Amino acid sequence: MSCNYAEGLSPYHDKGKLGLAEKFDSREEVNAKIQKLAKWISESKHVVVHTGAGISTSAGIPDFRGPKGVWTLEAKGEKPNINVSFNDAVPTKTHMALVALVKAGKVHFVVSQNIDGLHLRSSLPRINLAELHGNMFIEQCNQCDSQYIRKSATTTVGQKCLGTNCPNIRLNGRPCRGRMHDTILDWEHNLPEKDLALSDFHSCVADLSICLGTTLQIVPSGNLPLHTKKHGECGRVVICNLQPTKHDKKADLIINTYVDEVMEGVCKHLGVLIPEYTASLDPSKQSGPPVPWTILQSEVKRMRKVYEDLCCKGSKRGKKNTSENKGRGDYKSTKLKKPEENDKSNKVVDGTNVDVKSEDKLLPKTDTNMSTEEYQKIDVDGSPSKKIKVEKDEDSPVKDEIE
Ligand SMILES: [Zn+2]
Repeated sequence: MSCNYAEGLSPYHDKGKLGLAEKFDSREEVNAKIQKLAKWISESKHVVVHTGAGISTSAGIPDFRGPKGVWTLEAKGEKPNINVSFNDAVPTKTHMALVALVKAGKVHFVVSQNIDGLHLRSSLPRINLAELHGNMFIEQCNQCDSQYIRKSATTTVGQKCLGTNCPNIRLNGRPCRGRMHDTILDWEHNLPEKDLALSDFHSCVADLSICLGTTLQIVPSGNLPLHTKKHGECGRVVICNLQPTKHDKKADLIINTYVDEVMEGVCKHLGVLIPEYTASLDPSKQSGPPVPWTILQSEVKRMRKVYEDLCCKGSKRGKKNTSENKGRGDYKSTKLKKPEENDKSNKVVDGTNVDVKSEDKLLPKTDTNMSTEEYQKIDVDGSPSKKIKVEKDEDSPVKDEIE
């Protein structure tokens, strides 16, 4: 349950703006905005959707900062009264609409802050999904970083040991000696590198970013949609949320209504059929050996090239997008760790980390592994901007923009 998840995190005093009043557009406004969003999706070349807890409330999972959110009620000494277990929750209309839109080629990537595993369970392919704060249905090896899908939600949060061995087999035929851990970030943990890298590249390449059910207060996740605006000459940002968000002033379109209603309307306009959730397609319900969920280095490499070709080669669009540009977390401007300072880089450099490379054996292979240099570019250090946190009010426009 998300209450238990929230209770499992370490104390953190600044959880952002809580319990702001919800706002609803009129029926006419909603219809007109849905039509406009559908038009923009069909006009766009690269659409990225950013999702937050608001897309899972209709599955019975409370959000955090809504009027009945976990943090809002916690501040009053209360707990949500509707709170389904992660194992019992099923993907919502919005989750299933995203699967259909990705399949139809209308949406290209989903960046989620949600840990409930509902994107995975909706059968959204890993190649189209980054999970920046972890996933209750994923476990990760502390030695080779391989990720596997679990058949039930983890019993721990905060990247703790689950007491099981890594199922990965090394290239030399020997089993990995690592132990499996949950993937749920605690406050100020570093975000997962490959998920963050893909999110960054896709957000920069995107000409349309759609934010669903998030107040965009957590950094760096909440700032990613702005890459589309900042780095594209005609990039658009759409926000669909009941409460005001940190970036409302920068949005080209704000839709204040339920996300399920918006996604249903959008799919109707685009002629995309939303499938029902079926357990038979849910990867967490499959019997047999553990199913891998690791992002391939080759995919990070491929997206990096797409990003460089589109944004870094003298195009007007890319001019702003060079390493001189502060604040977008450009990997070129990120301090690289020397191999001896970084265990993972070392292992890739000398080729002995067969576990990292052997992940490519487990999933469809589309490209070659990254070079050492490229791996190190992605293998960023634990700079503050890569840690999960709420931006402090005095440093952030949150206060001004929301109030
Ligand atoms: Zn392992």
